[in-house]
Amino acid sequence: MTAHPPPAAAGRYPQAATAPGADAAHRSDIPARRLLLVHAHPDDESINNGVTMAKYAAEGALVTLVTCTLGEEGEVIPPELAPLASDRDDTLGPYRADELAAAMEVLGVTDHRLLGAPGRYRDSGMMGAPQNERPKSFWQAPLDEAAADLVAVIREVRPQVLVTYDPNGGYGHPDHIQAHRVAMRGAELAARADFRPELGSAYAIGKIYWNCNPRSQVEEGFERLRATGHSFPGIATVDDVPGVVPDSDVTASITGDPAYAAAKAAAMRAHYTQIAVDGPFFALSNDLGQPLFGTEHYLLVHGDSGAAAGEREDDLFAGIGEMVGMEESARIEEAAE
Ligand SMILES: [Zn+2]
Repeated sequence: MTAHPPPAAAGRYPQAATAPGADAAHRSDIPARRLLLVHAHPDDESINNGVTMAKYAAEGALVTLVTCTLGEEGEVIPPELAPLASDRDDTLGPYRADELAAAMEVLGVTDHRLLGAPGRYRDSGMMGAPQNERPKSFWQAPLDEAAADLVAVIREVRPQVLVTYDPNGGYGHPDHIQAHRVAMRGAELAARADFRPELGSAYAIGKIYWNCNPRSQVEEGFERLRATGHSFPGIATVDDVPGVVPDSDVTASITGDPAYAAAKAAAMRAHYTQIAVDGPFFALSNDLGQPLFGTEHYLLVHGDSGAAAGEREDDLFAGIGEMVGMEESARIEEAAE
């Protein structure tokens, strides 16, 4: 096995020569549309948002991924890599950092960071596992400390849109629940001028979404899986899919060029220790097949929908154009004073 370089904590996109303290919204070299995603482990971003990330990166938006832990406690699928596991060599974290980098390359995402410094927060393991109690586990991190690490990113990047999990983290994993809490608290604190001004000037995110999966799509996917030949020892159930909601709850659906779905599948494949992909299906370490979705769905929980009343948005930035315009005119007024 080759040595793995430590993952960088921040600042993956090219730094232009600008005035000190210039932030994303005031720099002409930074894309006008900026999307921030907060995830618990490497692979969650590709499974949940691979299509969305590929689409917005291809369209020229700045896509920033913050991953809270390196997933050190994950189970390892390929038998030849079993020694990486935390109960053996405990070298899975750096290996997964490399898998994440490969996945981001496939999705065209250049700005991916770990929350805080590399190694700051460790995978907490499944709920109830003894690893939950380790002092360095993400589950034990004081909320406002971890949120402050995110505030620094929010105030630097100034994203109009934030994507994270629902309050149950989609399926109850402690790191997913904590990632949700940190994302929501980070967004709140970033907007408060009295909170840690040394982390940058206050910034309010326009729209916040939680990942979800509409029940009809999930059921249809499992029907397709049962009707198709596949290589998995068994099939998962609807209950194994995180964030399943009634169709009527969904407020945004993102799809697009089939190349984005292909990029998502390739990104999931890059997480080789965690995911086995077989055509339009995949399995995690439980070996149970489940559908790989080419359309991703969201619940708008903060900000105004850009769609007509009763309709779903097909763009997470819908309605943001006006907000960007407002920022722009405020700046012109500022400059005129
Ligand atoms: Zn995860």
